[in-house]
Amino acid sequence: MSRFLSRRFASLAPYTPGEQPQGMEYVKLNTNESPYPPAPGVIAALSAAEVSRLNLYSDPQTKALTNAIAKRYGLFPAQVLPGNGSDEILVFCFEAFCGEDAGACFADLTYGFYEVYARLFCLETKVIALSERFTIEPEAYFNAGKTVFIANPNAPTGVFLALGELEEILKHNRENVVVIDEAYVDFGGESAVSLLARYENLLVVQTFSKSRNLAGARLGFAMGSEQLIGDLMKMKFSFNPYNINRLSILAGAAAMEDGAYFEACTKKIMQTREAVAVSLEERGFFVLPSRANFVFAAPKRIGGEAYYKKLKEKGVLVRWFDRDRIRDFVRITIGSDAQMKTLLNATDQILEETK
Ligand code: PMP
Repeated sequence: MSRFLSRRFASLAPYTPGEQPQGMEYVKLNTNESPYPPAPGVIAALSAAEVSRLNLYSDPQTKALTNAIAKRYGLFPAQVLPGNGSDEILVFCFEAFCGEDAGACFADLTYGFYEVYARLFCLETKVIALSERFTIEPEAYFNAGKTVFIANPNAPTGVFLALGELEEILKHNRENVVVIDEAYVDFGGESAVSLLARYENLLVVQTFSKSRNLAGARLGFAMGSEQLIGDLMKMKFSFNPYNINRLSILAGAAAMEDGAYFEACTKKIMQTREAVAVSLEERGFFVLPSRANFVFAAPKRIGGEAYYKKLKEKGVLVRWFDRDRIRDFVRITIGSDAQMKTLLNATDQILEETK
């Protein structure tokens, strides 16, 4: 740390992203990417003609992408704002809606960036513990008096909160924005987009990184009332108006337009997930019910950290979190069938070695 860093950031602990080894030496099941390539139309959209226009700035209105998202979800384009990953959209939400005395409210075990953003913006926080079974108890969020952030399905647990229960949270927080982070909703959850017409305090955030196979393009988006989207736009245009590059705008639009490929990939991942959950249970694991493209599972005889390390030695990367309540677990991204077979084989060896 230099002596020039603002004092308020001296104790800021940045988010630790999952390891990104730059080779193919690992079976990579640690950051919830899709094992499948982008939709065929994405590659066609990134034609040489567009590459040769990279000397020009991208469209700050991101029209091609915004329109494709709006069409897919039956919204007006003014109700949609794409961003440079949903992480950027979440930053805009923290900036726009948590200032002064609003602060932020979120679960004790959820997406780690919420806590980091709250620290970055020096916000007051209300942290609500998940239940013993790692579920969200809606009543605990009633009249939170702060901007509420809920990942649904939650991360890293994969547990889904039914829309009816979410609606109760919206009803009991009419004076505050409720941000529903649906990074994993396409793997068997139900989107809160259908509630937008009834709740002016609702913002839905989604990403292209998981179900749309475009983690490397860095694309996410918010959906909400024209007014809320206008507020987020104010953040974007005060920060980085060309936040999405020309290639990602086209890639995102093409991915959004290919509904059939999206259906096929998400369906396959859900099938693989169910088979993997059963296989892990057969090996004595405790597996939380997941509606995401990962499972959160605790081996029976060894701790989460030991299992994570032994898997890594055998060339399989999963994610372990050094946090109270979840040290026994690892989060395993659902990859291709072949990748999951490698995981299970490595697991069998580990169980044999630690008998
Ligand atoms: N929300 C949740 C719950 C996530 O797990 C992630 C992925 N790390 C994100 C948001 C951010 O995803 P991205 O920036 O790739 O859109």
